[in-house]
Amino acid sequence: MTKENIKCLIIGSGPAGYTAAIYASRANLNPVLYEGIQPGGQLTTTTEVDNFPGYPKGVTGPEMMEDLKEQATRFGTDVRFGIATSADLSKRPFKITIDNEKEIFAETLILSTGATAKYLGMESEERFRGQGVSACATCDGFFYKGKDVAVVGGGDTACEEASYLAGLCNKVYMIVRRDVLRASKAMQDRVMNTPNIEILWNYNTKEITGSPMGGVNGAILVNKDGSEKKIDIHGFFLAIGHHPNSELVSEWIKTNEEGYIITEGKSTRTNVPGVFAAGDVQDPHYRQAVTAAGSGCMAAIDAERFLADNK
Ligand SMILES: Cc1cc2nc3c(=O)[nH]c(=O)nc-3n(C[C@H](O)[C@H](O)[C@H](O)COP(=O)(O)OP(=O)(O)OC[C@H]3O[C@@H](n4cnc5c(N)ncnc54)[C@H](O)[C@@H]3O)c2cc1C
Repeated sequence: MTKENIKCLIIGSGPAGYTAAIYASRANLNPVLYEGIQPGGQLTTTTEVDNFPGYPKGVTGPEMMEDLKEQATRFGTDVRFGIATSADLSKRPFKITIDNEKEIFAETLILSTGATAKYLGMESEERFRGQGVSACATCDGFFYKGKDVAVVGGGDTACEEASYLAGLCNKVYMIVRRDVLRASKAMQDRVMNTPNIEILWNYNTKEITGSPMGGVNGAILVNKDGSEKKIDIHGFFLAIGHHPNSELVSEWIKTNEEGYIITEGKSTRTNVPGVFAAGDVQDPHYRQAVTAAGSGCMAAIDAERFLADNK
C-alpha cells in the first residue's frame, strides 16, 4: 500500500467540502480533497439552483459545483477522485484508506460526506425526479407556487415541509400511511390548523403519473382497505427521512440515533480532537447548500486553529 502524510484531508466534494478546501488552501494547509462516488455532491443531481447567494440569475447545480471546484483548485487544493473506504481515528495522524489501496495519514480530517434523501423506491418516482418529484421543499417549493402538491410522510420533517409548502401552494395533501402522525404535538397542531393542508390517512403511493414533457400531473394512492384514490398534483415531495453518510467513521465519531455526526456547540469539532464535520452529514435541520458551505468554512478555520495549537 502506498502511504502519504498530509496536514488536512477533506472527504467529500459537495458545497461543504469545497468551501472547506477554499479556506484550508488559503490558510496554507495544503488540503487534499477526495471527491467520492458523487463528484460535486447532491447538487449535481438538480437543474436550477435559485437560492445560492451570488447567482442573481440562478445557476444549474453541476455548473455551480464546477465553479466551487475551480475556486478550490485555484488556491492549490489537490482534488482527487477516490473513495475513503476505511478509517482509523484512534490516534493522530488519522489513517484513512482510499479505494482500499492507499493510506493517507492526516493531521486533521474534515468530514463532509453529506446525506442522502430516502425515496419510496417506485419506478415512476425515479422517472419524474427533478420534474415534479423532489425531496426538498425549501429548494423546490417555489416552482409550485399556486399549484397543488403532495408531501409523503408523517413525522416532524413532513409536517414542516407541508407547512412551508402551504404558504406557497394552493393545496397540500399529506400522504400518511398510518392513522396517526409521528410528529410532535406542536407540529401536528400546526398542520391540523392550516386550512389548505389535507391529510390523507392510511394511504400509500402506488404510482406517480405525468408525461415526459409536462412532468407530474397526479398520483394514485392505495388505502389500507384496498381502495384506490387519484389526486391531481404537480409536485410530489418526499419527507420520509435522510441517511447521513457517516458509516465510515461510526466506530470513532459520535452520532445521534439517525447517524448525524454530533458537533460541539457552535463549532465543527467532533468528539475526536482534530476531526471536524461540515455540511449535511452533521445537519439534520437545514440541509441547504449555503449552510453546508458555511459550515465548511467553519471546519477549515477550526482545523487551522487546531493545528496552530497542536504543533
Ligand atoms: C435534487 C436536490 C436539489 C437540491 N436543491 C437545492 C437548492 O436548490 N438549494 C440548496 O441550497 N440546496 C439544495 N439541495 C440540498 C443540497 O444539495 C445539500 O444541502 C448540499 O449539497 C449538502 O452539501 P454537503 O457538502 O454537505 O454534501 P453533498 O452535496 O451531499 O456531498 C457529499 C459528498 O461526499 C462524498 N462522499 C460521501 N462518502 C464518501 C466517501 N466515503 N469517500 C469520499 N467521498 C465521499 C460524495 O461523493 C459527495 O461528493 C438539493 C438537494 C437535492 C438532492
